[in-house]
Amino acid sequence: MIPFEDAFSKIVDSIKRLPPEKVDLLSGLDCVLAGDIKAGFDIPPFDKSAMDGYAVRSEDLSSQNELLCIGELQAGIFQKFVVNKGECVRIMTGSPLPSGADAVVMKEDTEKKGERIRILKPIRPLANVCSKGEDLQKGDILLSRGSLLRPLEISLAASLGYAKIKIYRKPGVSILATGNEIIEPGEAIGFGKIFNSNSYLLISILSLMKIPYTYLGIAKDNEDELRSKIEEGLKSDLFILSGGVSVGDYDLVPKVLSMYGVKKIFHGISIKPGKPVFFGNKERCFVFGLPGNPVSVFVGFLLFIKPALDKMMGKKPNLNIQRGRLTADYHQKPGRKQFFPVKAIFNEGWLITPIKDYHGSADLASLKEANGFMITGGEISHLPKDAEVEFILYRKEIGLRNLDRP
Ligand code: AMP
Ligand code: MG
Repeated sequence: MIPFEDAFSKIVDSIKRLPPEKVDLLSGLDCVLAGDIKAGFDIPPFDKSAMDGYAVRSEDLSSQNELLCIGELQAGIFQKFVVNKGECVRIMTGSPLPSGADAVVMKEDTEKKGERIRILKPIRPLANVCSKGEDLQKGDILLSRGSLLRPLEISLAASLGYAKIKIYRKPGVSILATGNEIIEPGEAIGFGKIFNSNSYLLISILSLMKIPYTYLGIAKDNEDELRSKIEEGLKSDLFILSGGVSVGDYDLVPKVLSMYGVKKIFHGISIKPGKPVFFGNKERCFVFGLPGNPVSVFVGFLLFIKPALDKMMGKKPNLNIQRGRLTADYHQKPGRKQFFPVKAIFNEGWLITPIKDYHGSADLASLKEANGFMITGGEISHLPKDAEVEFILYRKEIGLRNLDRP
């Protein structure tokens, strides 16, 4: 058994970012950029009117306030005008400024008298003009490699004309449940059978993270069934198994993984729940074997698999650890580092309430009211009300119901 911190660093150290891939702009949403996005031209690309009005020579207006309108410019329609002394051109927002003109008078500040336009207010040079290159100059880096592509970044790339972008590719994940007693929802429940909830948790989270997955179903606890499913799972970037990694007589997963060339990186972490977690790899495929109890799967996902996925996608692995104060006394049996379900509410600071009547790692139902796991050291047996504690806030990261504000 290794300490939690060692397990975490072994995972983030052994897993590498996946290679870059070129995708359609919108498919890059929520991905990490794998190359700089540069301006291929100035923005704006030409001196541009910021208003509907009249393009003028500002110097003319110190000696006269009526100008002759010689024509009209619309955005997107190219027409060449030269504005000479005493002249102006009707111009719409977004049109290139005609040559000779250096400012735009807003329509609201003018009066039209046939072909002649009376200008009601003085104007300074460059008024209501967006100058060529004032936002960005050709060659400027707008978004650098490593940026996370949120909606704003996607629209910035669009503004520079990018239809495809280079991102770090998302991992393909395989999921396998194991256990003779495990059946799928919808099947008839018989004595001693347990419905598979683990796969549905994992698949749902992956779906919210828009990570492609292959569901391999359930393997019975025998070598033949495990072998064929494991062979399939090892074709992906990340392979998650649940069940069969403990010390029971039918916990065959580590053995069959090793028969298929999976090298163990560790097996066993000093945490509760989740002690028997297995982590290894076969070449570029990384394998997590999680103990079968549903809360262990949830905690294992949060502590190890989410950071592993983030690392593969070029994101920073981050456990979102926060600090808060206990709203009630807390007792535990000392031993391993614990991750205990809590409900955290933000009221100036975080207020942490341990979930009452939590029965341990099989008790999925208790997580319904939880939005995090408090982290307590193995040496602790009691923490008084108001004690400061650390906890992992998980709802935001995996997109579930947000209970964290009152
Ligand atoms: P194991 O890690 O195989 O010893 O399983 C530990 C406990 O988790 C047993 O009570 C199993 O029935 C239960 N379990 C295993 N796999 C699943 C699953 N896919 N869904 C729900 N419970 C499971
Ligand atoms: Mg089992």
